[in-house]
Amino acid sequence: MPDATSTGLFGSDWDLQTVLNITNAVYIVAAVLFILGLKRLGHPSTARTGNQMAAIAMLMAVVVTLIDRDIVQVPWIVTGVVIGATIGVVLARRVQMTAMPQLVAVFNGFGGAASALVASAELVREGNAVDDVAAISIMASTIIGAVTLTGSFIAFGKLQGFVTSKPVLLPARNYLNAVLLAAAIALAIFLVFEPDTPAAFAVMGVLALALGVLLVIPIGGADMPVVVALLNSYSGLAAAATGFALENNMLIIAGSLVGASGLILTQIMTKAMNRSLANVMLGGFGAADGAAAAGGSVEQRPVRSVSAEDVALVLSYSRSVIFVPGYGLAVAQAQHAVRDLADVLKGRGVSVKYAVHPVAGRMPGHMNVLLAEANVPYDELKDLDEINSEFDRTDVAIVIGANDVTNPSARTDTSSPIYGMPILNVDKANAVVVLKRSMASGFAGVENELFFLERTMMFFGDARGSVEDLVREVKAL
Ligand code: NDP
Repeated sequence: MPDATSTGLFGSDWDLQTVLNITNAVYIVAAVLFILGLKRLGHPSTARTGNQMAAIAMLMAVVVTLIDRDIVQVPWIVTGVVIGATIGVVLARRVQMTAMPQLVAVFNGFGGAASALVASAELVREGNAVDDVAAISIMASTIIGAVTLTGSFIAFGKLQGFVTSKPVLLPARNYLNAVLLAAAIALAIFLVFEPDTPAAFAVMGVLALALGVLLVIPIGGADMPVVVALLNSYSGLAAAATGFALENNMLIIAGSLVGASGLILTQIMTKAMNRSLANVMLGGFGAADGAAAAGGSVEQRPVRSVSAEDVALVLSYSRSVIFVPGYGLAVAQAQHAVRDLADVLKGRGVSVKYAVHPVAGRMPGHMNVLLAEANVPYDELKDLDEINSEFDRTDVAIVIGANDVTNPSARTDTSSPIYGMPILNVDKANAVVVLKRSMASGFAGVENELFFLERTMMFFGDARGSVEDLVREVKAL
């Protein structure tokens, strides 16, 4: 907190109360901008401005905090901003869309680490003088932040293929986790009474770091979307706890917003996969193997393989088409070609829609982002609930690099790892065209019965090249 003699904001000689009032007024404006920005993120057409509003709010909050607290000298601030901005720009330009989930996982981890470090620094600064509320907040932030750090890096490793995406099931793992958590909490309680005990604080931190690894390592790769969303929520909770430790209202509000929206996203993802959170965290589900996802499991049964000409002919007799994009669309960067095909079809009087599954791709909203980049009209994007009843009235469903989210065995095969996951009812369309390179399985590493149905045509090849061929063939009709 600024002291009573502080000259405060912009070096003026306003009294302490004025400085606090101005700071809090800016915080309120920033908080309102955060909330409005979040709301705008709810639809692709407003998401861009929502993001900008939130970024402006964050800039306001950071600038006012730095000036108000008079805590860091300008050269340090500028150095930090330059380093951070350089890393951010390089990452934003270099990272492939397909690697976004890993990047988000890493961001969550760093967010948790930052909160834990700031809270720890407050403990070092205050020592035994720290009050009870601040001490409790510091311990909460350190434990949650440390769990978020290591948990996020394990999630990153699983998504990137450094760590096996199969569940690693240690014996008695749930008891072990319970013991670690209980020990960390016991140390936290001790530290609230005896804050100036660095050894106990270090052990508590190490226990929390270990807990982060052990909580995520038994979870299969197919459940990583849920884990990343949950860790995002944890990073917000850690920030909010640090806000209480520092008595910073902005941090409390921003952290709570991240915590709450992360939890809501977690709930949406678990619902989309028909799983409960407890089942994800404790179940050791999702025995997906990166090798299988990369093409390890190859099915031998015969399928109906077709050419671009065959598909164009089918399309020429169609009045309604639903595109079903998946991870392969992102890999092939086929979104612009798909938009071209849609335009050509619409020019021939065909009704075109896009069916977007909540876990298609490798991150929440993955397909929406790609299709928005190709300027696909928002009213043509339909989510699972909206579109599923339409497939049986549709002439052709064109599956572009999607696999797990179309697998009918999720409805019936109780032994399937994706059993119960709501899927897009692609198999109900009059004709199905699947664009993919081979018979390799998707992320969950399971066979897809859709490919063997009589009404299904397999059009093998890289999705972008295949769609471009289709555009040419349909134009030539
Ligand atoms: P899948 O991973 O099930 O399948 C993608 C398919 O795309 C593969 O079968 C692959 O087949 C094909 N493909 C890959 N590259 C290309 C290419 N260049 N051209 C054409 N096809 C290609 O994807 P879905 O989107 O259907 O499902 C998403 C899966 O990922 C779910 O299991 C979900 O749980 C999981 N997941 C989702 C996350 C999220 O937040 N959305 C995060 C992490 C995991 P082939 O190799 O033969 O071409």
